[in-house]
Amino acid sequence: MTSERIYNFNPGPAALPLVVLEEIRENFLNFKESGMSITEISHRSKEFDDVINDAVARTKRLLNLGDSFQVLFIQGGASMQFCMIPMNFLLPGKSADYVDTGTWSTKAIKEAQIQGKSIEVVASSADKNYCYIPQNIAFNDKVDFVHLTSNNTIKGTQWTEFPDTKGVPIFCDMSSDIMSRPLDAAKFGLIYAGAQKNAGPAGVCLVIIRNDILDLVPDSIPTMLRYTTYSAKNSMYNTPPCFAVYTVQLVLKWLEESVGGLEKMAALNRKKARLLYRLLDNSSFYRATARPDSRSLMNVTFRMPDEELEERFIREGLENGLGGLKGHRSVGGCRASLYNAVSLDAVEVLTDFMATFERKYG
Ligand SMILES: *Cc1c(COP(=O)(O)O)cnc(C)c1O
Repeated sequence: MTSERIYNFNPGPAALPLVVLEEIRENFLNFKESGMSITEISHRSKEFDDVINDAVARTKRLLNLGDSFQVLFIQGGASMQFCMIPMNFLLPGKSADYVDTGTWSTKAIKEAQIQGKSIEVVASSADKNYCYIPQNIAFNDKVDFVHLTSNNTIKGTQWTEFPDTKGVPIFCDMSSDIMSRPLDAAKFGLIYAGAQKNAGPAGVCLVIIRNDILDLVPDSIPTMLRYTTYSAKNSMYNTPPCFAVYTVQLVLKWLEESVGGLEKMAALNRKKARLLYRLLDNSSFYRATARPDSRSLMNVTFRMPDEELEERFIREGLENGLGGLKGHRSVGGCRASLYNAVSLDAVEVLTDFMATFERKYG
């Protein structure tokens, strides 16, 4: 359709930093003088060992994890984690609190319920179409973990601060905002993120797990669904998704060496989101759907006066080199995903286009 690269606001798989794509292209036919591409080399080779070890080390540095966490790469996406978590950690006598902030957390809850596990949904924003993040939640103090979704990709909401769970470890789906801001790791027992939103391509899920939590995993779980299988073999019990892990490694290198770390990334992400929300707030044509105190810096969801205009907006956006602006099919409307790899420049082009569109049709 076009020979130029577009401004990519896709929700996932999503934009990757151009320098990462160029580095992949540059090294593709002959990776590290192996005479093979990364998709052809053995996962037992020194070359791939270096890739996965570097990805682990960079994850630990960027998120300030220290030595008490393991970094694992698991297939099956974030959705596999929905079932693995209850399977590994909700054995008889154990229980968990879940917070329902829409689609993905609802699915996580369902996977625990399918297995007949003891969980309680202690808060939900279903009453207002998931347009906000619940506050002042009464967590149970005897539970083994609290499950949250840090950023709600479809509903456009995000936890700005994580709740006080009184020492109960948080297990968190950070698929759509991992690496978008610094992390206070002390609150978390387990963090997982499908790489294809903010950390790489589809095909791998990043799992960060505290050592003492890992110790709780029993041997009675099928091998491939047990976290300890991955931790014991540096995520290489079986063949890992080599290309996906490699791309994640390059994205992490970009974050550390080009962006300069997560403080800087977060400042830029705030700036990008502020620009777009300001336009939405100053308009009587566009309407942001998330409550102001719960707005996501990653996925900005908005509506227009009618669906015909929304369709036209998405169509004309693409004609102007702006892609991926359609809201999720379950909620309709529009959504601009402003992940790490989306530049401030891209957001400026988007807001200019939106201002013009409003003048034309508003
Ligand atoms: C996309 C997404 C998922 C699903 O990820 P898969 O890797 O496709 O299973 C889960 N949670 C959140 C928050 C997401 O954005």
